Amino acid sequence: MKTMEQHGMYASFPRSGKDTRHTHYCPGCGHGIINKLVAETCAELGLQDRTVFVDPVGCGVFTYYYWDAAHISAAHGRASAVATGVARARPEAVVIAYQGDGDLGAIGFNNAFQAASRGERFGCIFVNNSLYAMTGGQMAPTTLDGEKTTTTPFGRDPALTGAPLHVCEVFDKLDAPVYIARVSVAGTQRIMQAKKAIRKVFEIQRDGLGYAMLEILAPCPTNLKASPLKAQEFCATEMEKEFPLAVFRDKTAEATPAKPREIPRAASCAELFGGAAKTSGDAAGGGTAAVAEEKRFKFAGYGGQGILSLGLCIAEAALHEGLQTLWYPSYGPEQRGGSANCSVVVSGSPIGAPAADRPDVLVCMNQPAFERFAGDVPPGGTIVVDESVPEGCAKTAEGVRTVRWPAIRLAAEMGVPKAANTMMLAALARLGCTGLARDSLEKALVESFKKKPELGEKNREIFAKAVEKAEACGL
Ligand code: SF4
Repeated sequence: MKTMEQHGMYASFPRSGKDTRHTHYCPGCGHGIINKLVAETCAELGLQDRTVFVDPVGCGVFTYYYWDAAHISAAHGRASAVATGVARARPEAVVIAYQGDGDLGAIGFNNAFQAASRGERFGCIFVNNSLYAMTGGQMAPTTLDGEKTTTTPFGRDPALTGAPLHVCEVFDKLDAPVYIARVSVAGTQRIMQAKKAIRKVFEIQRDGLGYAMLEILAPCPTNLKASPLKAQEFCATEMEKEFPLAVFRDKTAEATPAKPREIPRAASCAELFGGAAKTSGDAAGGGTAAVAEEKRFKFAGYGGQGILSLGLCIAEAALHEGLQTLWYPSYGPEQRGGSANCSVVVSGSPIGAPAADRPDVLVCMNQPAFERFAGDVPPGGTIVVDESVPEGCAKTAEGVRTVRWPAIRLAAEMGVPKAANTMMLAALARLGCTGLARDSLEKALVESFKKKPELGEKNREIFAKAVEKAEACGL
């Protein structure tokens, strides 16, 4: 006798916190049936170890609690985009995106449509229950004419909201897809046909033949406010009238295994921004790039204080050393006076995420910035804060070095109040907490004024003086 695991499902679903096989689906929900069919098919074909499911946002969001295979959760509507990435990066994988009609038909339509148009090598299982289910039964593009939902309480009016979207028929206009079909799970016979179609989607992926779209009509008794039986009837009659069951296309016989797509080598920042010729390291291996550990920086203050330029200088200096870097600004709509911050990541290897939520180095030019970010710096990190920020206005973790530095005052005393950010750069150079050479920082600073070379030279002088001053102050 087969165990439950052999059917592709985990032995128990820990979501409810105990050893249970109850799912989160409502009684009579089409997702429950489809989940079982998908898991069984994956296991029967022996593909669990090769399969990557891309989970949606919607009622199908928790499939990773049920299907015993690899999973990636995508943001709402982005499952086809994520599936594209997985399929390209792992040509040996069987990639299946699981999406609902709000997820695919509305928010993510263009993602899904373009992936189909490109003939990406993944299968899309598209569950159409005619509304946004998880969020409370709002109208979706697939809602039937006259169907009542929470946002169409008098029934969908095509004059106001258009006609139902026929995803399969639209996708069938594309050249690339190998297989496009619509099935239903409203009744035993239909469920058996659905299982065959699901198998087809898996086989196409197993054999690397290309893109497959399978739409599955499914009842949602909860939002239809109907019993499971009535919801099934609605699905089998009303929905099928609008969305006839059909195999729109099946080119599996003539399809040949798609060649894995070449993933272009990611350009280094130096190549992108032109610093390659000036690098001291060798980005292809060796030199600074090969040994540098990742460092995350956050620069924060008011707009107009040169916060974003300061971050850019660090990023540019990293380019001069042949490192990978990302600069990620964040600012309000105000040109001046609003809050501004930027994250900079510097690394000897490709960088995964651009944000610096736990920065190794934090530079704060004002009190709100210090209050907001000081607690994010982990032990071992460094905060450089302008001395105008009152001491003790925010807590820092134990083991964080906090350096108070009169950047704003010094700049004013030197008659260049706008150069407070250069003062900060000098402090960073002196402290050595960037891991970047002083020469690289200076070069990046001068280059940031390349449209006004006279200002570049002036800032070089200011920088040199500020470094001396920092040294004199014991930094
Ligand atoms: S709300 Fe509808 S689609 Fe969601 S789990 Fe319940 S029956 Fe299924």
